[in-house]
Amino acid sequence: MCLTCVLPLMVSGPAPVFPTTAPEPGWLKEKSGGSITWTGCAGFILDVDGERICFDPYASNPGLRDTLFRPARPDHALVERTFGEVSGIFVGHTHFDHAMDVAPLAKANPGCVVHGSTTTTEICRRQGVPDEQLHPVEDGSRVTIGPFTVEAIASRHGTVPIASRIDVIELRGEGMPKTVFRWPRGQVFAYRVEVGGLSLHLQTSAGIEDAPLARQEPVDVLIACLAARQGTEGYFRRLGEQLRPKVIIPCHHDNFFRPLSEPPRPVARLDWPGFLDDVAQLADAYGTRLVQLPRGVPVAF
Ligand SMILES: [Zn+2]
Ligand SMILES: [Zn+2]
Repeated sequence: MCLTCVLPLMVSGPAPVFPTTAPEPGWLKEKSGGSITWTGCAGFILDVDGERICFDPYASNPGLRDTLFRPARPDHALVERTFGEVSGIFVGHTHFDHAMDVAPLAKANPGCVVHGSTTTTEICRRQGVPDEQLHPVEDGSRVTIGPFTVEAIASRHGTVPIASRIDVIELRGEGMPKTVFRWPRGQVFAYRVEVGGLSLHLQTSAGIEDAPLARQEPVDVLIACLAARQGTEGYFRRLGEQLRPKVIIPCHHDNFFRPLSEPPRPVARLDWPGFLDDVAQLADAYGTRLVQLPRGVPVAF
């Protein structure tokens, strides 16, 4: 860590993991005129010119016991209250903490389309989402919704100790998984969003697929999953070399078994100091600035 990074820490102490206030208005030089909301885990809402799209919408947070032993029972009222009206839903992969609230949100927004892997679209179809609302994506596919253009980027999942060995990959049989924990992973995607001259890269799981990432141009904002990144060698170095972000926003760093009504707590093995070291290296190399979004608060961008 260089001296210019250390000095502010000596004066103010390290940044809290979960701030409750929005970053200073100048956190992004060029502005889209819209807002960005981190909703917890890997969930985000982008709202520009009244058009709203979201990524990995997840609010139901069933808790560890229900995750292990019960089928998914989304909290429909909470999902609708958290995400409201959306015209597009983009899903990184089909694990419950990214996808279990997608179908109820899609059904509450009959005009919106769900974009994700064939596993994601199939699990939504099994919950009664009509085909016209389901759009499977492939690596490199692009879709335009109002002011947003969104590109799907094939990616990989982070390595979760033990869980990775018993992970369900594809949807089996006819019905729904018997427990929340058995929701399949399916193919994993990152997404690039272009809006009003700004670019954002959402790395919603902490694995990397080299060739699709190598296709990417530098971005203004890198939104990066922190959970289970330890198994991906050089995770931030490789993202940084390719994307050269002006700003990095952490996500998937809160414990997603706790309800949204309680203050966020760190996910297991977060290693926040290690993350700050990685950010300091990005700052040295590319001038990247760390920006933390308070959960559930729309922030101008
Ligand atoms: Zn996952
Ligand atoms: Zn996850």
